[in-house]
Amino acid sequence: MKKVLITGAAGFLGSHLCDKFIHEGFYVIGMDNFITGDKKNISHLANNPNFEFIEHDVTEFIKIEGDLHYILHFASPASPIDYLKIPIQTLKVGSLGTHNLLGLAKAKNARLLIASTSEVYGDPLVHPQTEDYYGNVNTIGPRGVYDEAKRFQESITMAYHRFHGLETRIVRIFNTYGPRMRLNDGRVIPAFMGQALRGEDLTVFGDGKQTRSFCYVDDQVDGIYKLMFSDYAYPVNIGNPNEITIGDFAEEIIKLTNTNQKVIYKELPVDDPLQRQPDITLAKELLGWQPKVEREEGMLKTFNYFKSLSEEDLYKSEH
Ligand code: NAD
Ligand code: UDP
Repeated sequence: MKKVLITGAAGFLGSHLCDKFIHEGFYVIGMDNFITGDKKNISHLANNPNFEFIEHDVTEFIKIEGDLHYILHFASPASPIDYLKIPIQTLKVGSLGTHNLLGLAKAKNARLLIASTSEVYGDPLVHPQTEDYYGNVNTIGPRGVYDEAKRFQESITMAYHRFHGLETRIVRIFNTYGPRMRLNDGRVIPAFMGQALRGEDLTVFGDGKQTRSFCYVDDQVDGIYKLMFSDYAYPVNIGNPNEITIGDFAEEIIKLTNTNQKVIYKELPVDDPLQRQPDITLAKELLGWQPKVEREEGMLKTFNYFKSLSEEDLYKSEH
């Protein structure tokens, strides 16, 4: 049985990747320090003979006994309010954490896939974003801790690939959503859905004209899986190109949740990208991948998940 290490396993994407790799017949080692994750996301795997969990901070030396064939490095705060709250840890997990995982991959002769992000494009001047766009990032702005950690992560990964011949993969993930997102993580989907469930007004930041393109988690996981088993070492965008303004999205959520909340406007966070849409031509050609889940279907599944959570989760404001 091939062995896979997944960091960030107790998080939103990491936990879905654990499920996917177990389902595909791998033995999965999940690793997490729970800084933004939740034990509940992997509790269903506790008695699975093909899963083990190691509580560990990946910025510290990582020791794995025996063979290891694949590594997916997904540990990192991912929501703007998380990485603003823990900026140093965010920089460390993208830099020191990635360095540790590259070293581990080299020692084990394993293939490493790193979770990069559309944030490497910053507030993009090219639209939609293609992989050959270098980006427009404010290194010293509050979001810089995340964006630059991820840019460094890509650079050091390519250096290990070129210098040591390590097998590496880089996925640039665009806004992804679905069950197991933290209701209070501040990202727009949990924020709007939590507000709808609590009967609060929906908080649109800025004038609501900024755009995002939302990808359902099952599509994202499928794209990442295909990339891992491709032979392409350069970055690949994985996301859903269906773009919408945040203002229109708030209206969509009000309709979907069948509520009659008002929309209220709040200040736009510093360096909040004005537009974001993946160009997925490369993923289509290279991986034969494209998203299948329409926003309406994905949002409904996600809303049903949030509805099933406890009152305690719904009113928890701090992680
Ligand atoms: P998440 O916060 O739900 O999961 C991240 C997990 O990493 C958490 O369980 C957290 O406890 C863990 N973690 C953080 N620092 C750690 C450390 N030092 N050691 C061990 N574990 C640590 O976030 P997510 O949405 O699942 O994102 C996962 C990855 O995907 C991140 O690398 C993120 O940058 C990337 N990504 C996500 C999106 C998205 O839309 N969800 C978009 C772009 C990139
Ligand atoms: N946003 C919003 N209201 C909220 C949370 C977010 O209008 O309560 C906006 C945010 O300013 C951004 C977009 O929604 O323009 C997506 O934000 P998110 O935090 O989900 O992720 P980002 O794509 O900015 O990393």
